[in-house]
Amino acid sequence: MKQPGAQARLKKYVLRQSLCTGCGACVGMCPYQVIYKDRTVQLFDCDLPEGRCYTFCPRTPTDYNALEKTLFDPRDLTDELGPVRGFFLARAADAGLRLRAQHGGTVTALLGLAMAEGLIDTALVSGRNDEGEPQGTLVADKGELAGYAKSRFIVSPTVAAFNRIDAKDREKTGIVATPCQAQALAKIRTAVIDGCSQAQSVGLVIGLFCGWTLAAEKFRGLLERFFIPFADLDAMDIPPGFNMLELRSSEKTLLMPLDEVDEYVRGACRYCVDSTAQFADVSVGAARCGMDPGEMRGWNQVIVRSLRGEKLIELARQKGALEIREAPAGALRELKEAAAEKKRQGLENIVAKSGSKKNLLYLKNYGPAAGKRENR
Ligand SMILES: Cc1cc2nc3c(=O)[nH]c(=O)nc-3n(C[C@H](O)[C@H](O)[C@H](O)COP(=O)(O)OP(=O)(O)OC[C@H]3O[C@@H](n4cnc5c(N)ncnc54)[C@H](O)[C@@H]3O)c2cc1C
Ligand code: SF4
Ligand code: SF4
Repeated sequence: MKQPGAQARLKKYVLRQSLCTGCGACVGMCPYQVIYKDRTVQLFDCDLPEGRCYTFCPRTPTDYNALEKTLFDPRDLTDELGPVRGFFLARAADAGLRLRAQHGGTVTALLGLAMAEGLIDTALVSGRNDEGEPQGTLVADKGELAGYAKSRFIVSPTVAAFNRIDAKDREKTGIVATPCQAQALAKIRTAVIDGCSQAQSVGLVIGLFCGWTLAAEKFRGLLERFFIPFADLDAMDIPPGFNMLELRSSEKTLLMPLDEVDEYVRGACRYCVDSTAQFADVSVGAARCGMDPGEMRGWNQVIVRSLRGEKLIELARQKGALEIREAPAGALRELKEAAAEKKRQGLENIVAKSGSKKNLLYLKNYGPAAGKRENR
């Protein structure tokens, strides 16, 4: 019997299973698939047997172990956090940038440095469309990067914007990616498809730690109840020590108990096992341990994962782009525990969905049992 085409399999195994993270990796390569609001929509049927949409999707079967070992030094692999070559706290040396950034401005400072040093020509960050919805935005002027800083915990289909870049310009693009997007970019980097112009053309991946994102449309309704127009939402954060989601617009700041936010979490995030962007070159999150909560908000935890990431951090030290300090005792252990908990919860939900511990849906060859970890 003829096997269904790639797009039909994407629909059956990802979209209809509520596994779609909205990363955008299946969009921007053909006219048949688009993002509408934060949903991935198939406009027409295509019967290509091996389409890039299916191959690049982070929620189609992925040989996790092979992907890790292809992209990273196997000696760096840890069970909880994936590859770790370095771990420390950092913030942008530029105090003005820090004021405009989510935490320490490390992500924006690293992008700016990579551009200034010619490691990348352009940066792909999360901007907004006319409706105020997140969208991948290509920035060629490093002076403009700070205008795209801060976080909104709503899916930004950034990888779609990467797919749309002209092939000749794509090679030296630095991309800010959530863990599922970093996984899609890892699949893009390692894909072996005839005529595939994206493979090997990712210049740098700066990953963001990620607990979850919110289902944008549902959340929009909630915001309106609090008289915050969706487009006015500047930033979202979970301040250390509080069990609250902070929503910031130019007009006001609102605190919402996390218990009440839970029902707005995107369904696909419940099947996610990566909280630290294990497939990035450098991963950046909030500092969460060992400091006064007020001070913590101005620093980032940083995990260096690849040789490329290590070179960038070395350059940041030499050029003084970042202030770097040792992480407090216990910070790495705490981060590992939180990452392990997300994996445990994600796997539990995956098994409940598949009905069998032997069927981990999109995760193939996954976990410590799948391959020997040299460095635990
Ligand atoms: C959806 C989401 C969930 C997160 N969850 C956690 C968490 O649980 N724990 C934790 O420690 N940190 C989390 N973070 C990361 C954290 O919010 C900061 O982005 C990180 O600490 C870097 O801070 P910074 O000051 O260096 O960033 P900045 O220098 O301010 O740069 C932030 C970068 O992120 C990009 N960005 C903003 N929103 C999005 C988006 N929705 N998708 C993709 N890129 C985006 C911006 O364009 C900018 O390039 C999350 C971020 C996002 C986007
Ligand atoms: S590639 Fe991303 S946006 Fe497309 S179906 Fe897969 S998870 Fe959804
Ligand atoms: S929780 Fe996972 S699936 Fe959801 S946005 Fe974050 S990385 Fe993607």
